Amino acid sequence: MTAPPSPRLIDDVALIAADIRRRALGEVRLDADLRDYSRWRCGGRAALVVAPRDKRSVSRLLAYFRQRSIPWAVVGEGSNLFFDDAGVQVPLVHVGPQLGAVRVDGTLVRVDAGVWVPGLALKMMRGGLGGIEHIVGIPGTFGGLVLMNGGSLRRGVGENIVEVEVAEQDGSVRRPRHSECGFAYRRSALQQRNCIVLGATLQLTPGNCAAMRRHMLEIMASRRRRFPRDLPNCGSVFVSDPALYASIGPPGAAIELAKQKGAREGDAMVSPKHANFIVNLGNACSADIITLIRRVREAVAVRSGHHMRCEVRFMNFAGEVREVHEWLEDPAWREQRSDEPRRVLNG
Ligand SMILES: Cc1cc2nc3c(=O)[nH]c(=O)nc-3n(C[C@H](O)[C@H](O)[C@H](O)COP(=O)(O)OP(=O)(O)OC[C@H]3O[C@@H](n4cnc5c(N)ncnc54)[C@H](O)[C@@H]3O)c2cc1C
Repeated sequence: MTAPPSPRLIDDVALIAADIRRRALGEVRLDADLRDYSRWRCGGRAALVVAPRDKRSVSRLLAYFRQRSIPWAVVGEGSNLFFDDAGVQVPLVHVGPQLGAVRVDGTLVRVDAGVWVPGLALKMMRGGLGGIEHIVGIPGTFGGLVLMNGGSLRRGVGENIVEVEVAEQDGSVRRPRHSECGFAYRRSALQQRNCIVLGATLQLTPGNCAAMRRHMLEIMASRRRRFPRDLPNCGSVFVSDPALYASIGPPGAAIELAKQKGAREGDAMVSPKHANFIVNLGNACSADIITLIRRVREAVAVRSGHHMRCEVRFMNFAGEVREVHEWLEDPAWREQRSDEPRRVLNG
């Protein structure tokens, strides 16, 4: 995933797809519309998307890629990720419901990476297991949640994780313990590892179903009140930062103070309902969203001196993923984008 893809890769896509089908490693899509894989509903086309059948297929797929030096990238629900308008040239591994098992053993729960997060929270509540009620409103896969250490109410799922099961780049399976995962606010060391999360073991605590249910209903009601619901978005764009929080408040407050609420770039708009969300009014492309993020970030920096970090991640043509502010701070990338005419392969 780190090496730039060879130009030959594009020619080989049909061959790779046929190989993967023959080995029955998963469902294969060629020339897929990336709008189907990002909750912002933008991006170009993916040369190849593979949805592995099970955990073993993920390992075999990575071993297959490794043996042939084929770079790859991974996507879950795409609720925190968007793609280049030029598309993605490397094979995308789509972790979804095929990896959907949840096994309860007392208060230890083994969860596969493709499990739908709100469904997991509800299932645990019904089984009287507490600790992860705060994830009930997060519309992603469990694998994406683990990688991002996602959560709400200032909490992260990492707090409850005992160990994670990952497929490494050579296809081998490892089980890093909690202490090796480097969980921090909306971050984990797994992000640097270029691995695929296959699942994780959670340590939960016995809890009162009715009380947990009430708490979850409150969380959902509060989210419905505060977050935009009808237009495509990828959740919070910027991560809350303690220094910014102390001086101004959460990113939404800083964005409002910098007079960016409602700001627009093409069909991308800072949500009038919650300034830390950017919504797609219909035909926003990834370039619009990136430009708007840059404008908002600069306006906040001018107003408050804080350079906000992004939570949302962007995948370029070569399948490299970084948080958007990291791309924006890369002079080579900025230079390249200003030179290139926008290559929109959709629409
Ligand atoms: C309306 C809305 C509300 C949201 N609210 C919250 C919230 O309250 N708290 C919060 O933390 N987040 C929130 N999010 C963001 C998002 O839902 C979470 O970050 C979620 O956990 C991402 O999961 P995903 O499957 O969508 O991952 P994706 O968006 O598909 O991917 C995110 C990153 O994880 C990588 N990845 C995905 N799956 C795997 C895997 N199996 N192995 C290795 N890497 C993987 C991707 O390459 C990418 O880098 C919200 C999003 C939306 C749209």
